[in-house]
This record gives sequence, structure tokens and C-alpha cells, in this order.
Amino acid sequence: MEKINILGVPVHKVDMNEALNVSSSFFDRDKKSVIVTPNSEIVMMAKDDEKFLNIIKEADLVIPDGIGLVIASKMIKNPLNERVTGIDLMENILNYCNENNKSIFILGGKPGVADKAVENIVKKYPNIKSSGSYHGYFKGHHIGHEGHDEEKEVINKINELKPDILFVAFGAPKQELWIQRYKDEVNTSILMGVGGSVDVYAG
Ligand code: UDP
Repeated sequence: MEKINILGVPVHKVDMNEALNVSSSFFDRDKKSVIVTPNSEIVMMAKDDEKFLNIIKEADLVIPDGIGLVIASKMIKNPLNERVTGIDLMENILNYCNENNKSIFILGGKPGVADKAVENIVKKYPNIKSSGSYHGYFKGHHIGHEGHDEEKEVINKINELKPDILFVAFGAPKQELWIQRYKDEVNTSILMGVGGSVDVYAG
């Protein structure tokens, strides 16, 4: 997959169709896959933050989630077809999960928000099974303070359910740092940072 370089931040040159096809293929892969959704604000953040930038560089799918990226791609004469937003890709992935009996877990948002988001999603997509959720304000989840009991509880809960995809909603770059830190410990095929989308699904 071709990548284009926006201020040093590599972004995959994909439209929604391609992004969805690639994401779907991640469910059947041997290795875990990470999806990140940078917009202009995140590009500005990442260009000065080596750790965050490396996470984006290593991600399996980096979608152009901002009209600013589309404009920038035209300026460097390697135009992206369209903006692919995180929430639109999430919606398409959920539809795929519904058609293929995949399970999901949403981690993040204020207490009650992820529960409500999952409830609404399952109402709309009833074939999505064994779904779970946990809020994003548990103790110890600040990177550097790992190992707190509640953090282990969260990981255990995810691992009991073994979701096919884990959506992490702490906002950027917190969610990407968490994904990087815990990727090897969670039993799932795909990890995707979705930020405020959880609030949208909660309604
Ligand atoms: N959040 C969280 N834990 C934190 C900080 C934020 O769960 O420690 C949640 C917050 O409640 C909100 C989401 O992360 O649901 C961040 O949304 P925001 O709109 O800031 O992120 P963006 O979509 O802009 O990346």
C-alpha cells in the first residue's frame, strides 16, 4: 500500500473502499493490526513527538482523517482521493462485523458512555456478539503508572471476551500510546484508536 508523506507523517493513500478492504483483511491475519486515524491536528502533534510519530509509522493502516491532509496531498502533487474519517471507517467496520459475526470491545469515554455506545451498536447490528465495554478513566492507565489493579482488571475483561476488534477512545495521542503499550497483552486481532467517536455512538 502506497504511503504519502505529510510533514514527515506517513499516511496510506487509500479511499474508504480500500481502507475497509484492508481493515477487513486484518481479522484473518496472524499478527495483530493497528489502525490510526490522523487529522491535521494529529499530524502537527506527531511531527514534533518522536514516540507518537513512530507509532504512526509502525501502524498497519493510517487513514487520512482530515480535509487538511487531502489539501496537503494536492499541494505535494500526490493527491489523496478523499478524506476517510475514523468514525466512517468505524461504522463500515461495524457493518462488516455484523455481516461476519465478529465481536467488539469499546474501551474509553466517561463512565457509562462506552456501555451505551455498545448498547446502541448492538441494537443496530444484532449479529455483533460478545461485545464488551469499559470506561476510560480507570486508575493506572496513565502511561508510566502501569500495573495498577484496575488496569489489570481491564485487560482481563478484554481477554475474557477475546473481541475481534478493540476500539480505544482516550483521544490522541493517549489512545495510541496505550495501544502501543498493551498491544501484546490484549487478545484481539485489531486495535483502533477512535477518540470522540464513542461519544457519538453513545448519542
Ligand atoms: N477519554 C478517556 N480517558 C482519558 C481521556 C479522554 O476515556 O483519560 C475520552 C473522553 O471521555 C472522550 C474521548 O476520550 O470520550 C476523547 O475524545 P476527543 O474528542 O478529545 O478525542 P478526539 O476524537 O478529538 O481524538
